[in-house]
Amino acid sequence: MAWQIQCTASPPPLPSFSPFTLKSTSSISLPLPLPLTRSSRFRSTHAPSPRPIAASFSAVESTTSTDGLGNSKTPLLEVKGLTAVIAETKQEILKGVDLVVHHGEIHAIMGKNGSGKSTFSKVLVGHPDYEVTGGDVVFKGENLLDMEPEERSLAGLFMSFQSPVEIPGVNNIDFLHMAYNARRKKLGEPELGPLEFYAYIYPKLDLVNMKTDFLNRNVNEGFSGGERKRNEILQLAVI
Ligand code: ADP
Ligand code: MG
Repeated sequence: MAWQIQCTASPPPLPSFSPFTLKSTSSISLPLPLPLTRSSRFRSTHAPSPRPIAASFSAVESTTSTDGLGNSKTPLLEVKGLTAVIAETKQEILKGVDLVVHHGEIHAIMGKNGSGKSTFSKVLVGHPDYEVTGGDVVFKGENLLDMEPEERSLAGLFMSFQSPVEIPGVNNIDFLHMAYNARRKKLGEPELGPLEFYAYIYPKLDLVNMKTDFLNRNVNEGFSGGERKRNEILQLAVI
């Protein structure tokens, strides 16, 4: 499962590389967590060590920051002191993760295998294998941790998979249609019928360079690795 979390906003923001705000004081064991934004600043308070160490990022701005024009920006996602354990064994994996993401920003979290990147992603989407034991997560102004996984998805949190799974027996376009209508319902908008949905999705196929017959196959069944990823991007574009 991938560790990348994509937060969508409506209308979609333009990508930007505004000042980075990844803050952490202990967190997942990341030996070399290098944020990939150009203006990010990283400072580890730990001496270099061959073993995984707790990452520490310096805070470069306050929670409500300003853009280059001096306008205040409210975070899209704000994680503060998040701690989580594996539900079954109670082993602590996340040890106080702080992360602030504003609209349009792209953040990358890097770290050794097994340091907790996927766990962090899965905790954000509400995976039942993990229990949150402390901290706060606010997404679009709402307490994310109070939401069911499907509510988090409808709010715009999308988790992509390292290897998207096949769903035999579930037609791709039916799957996309249901997911799209669930989101419209949540937004209080009228649901689209099959023909209207087809007209909506058809132009998006070009975006991901996908042929129409992929819509009528079962979700990811027999798809190549690249086709699965393109299908996933189509899902992201649709919902
Ligand atoms: P990363 O994505 O950074 O490579 P993970 O978040 O997948 O790391 O895993 C962090 C650690 O937690 C690993 O040691 C992994 O084996 C363990 N872990 C994660 N999820 C589970 C689980 N459901 N059951 C048991 N151990 C788990
Ligand atoms: Mg991982």
